[in-house]
Amino acid sequence: MGEASRPRFHAWEYFDLDGYLRASNPVAAAVLRVAKALGFLASAAMTLPAALFHPILAPLGLAVIGLALWADARRYGVWHGDCPRCGQEVWIAAKRHGTKAFACHICRDRLLLKSGRLTPF
Ligand SMILES: [Zn+2]
Repeated sequence: MGEASRPRFHAWEYFDLDGYLRASNPVAAAVLRVAKALGFLASAAMTLPAALFHPILAPLGLAVIGLALWADARRYGVWHGDCPRCGQEVWIAAKRHGTKAFACHICRDRLLLKSGRLTPF
């Protein structure tokens, strides 16, 4: 136990809607990125009356937008580290260069993830 610990970044992990840690891969992440881009295009197209009332384009556009919203809800990037206070493993959903303050789920101490280091806060 030190005053700071160095967590490891897992780029393709995420928490699902139930809060479970899941692992994905770069291919799935790329597919989600395409889905988000298509959803953006679809929402732009749906502002056109011709697309909005078209019998095929309208449901297709809404389906693509729904897929994009679902894809957008998944945030990749989980840090695995040891709590500097109690030494228990902690998982933090944050970006690679992200800064995040949170409470250790075991000892409830406030911790800060910053510049790839985990410090008491
Ligand atoms: Zn702790």
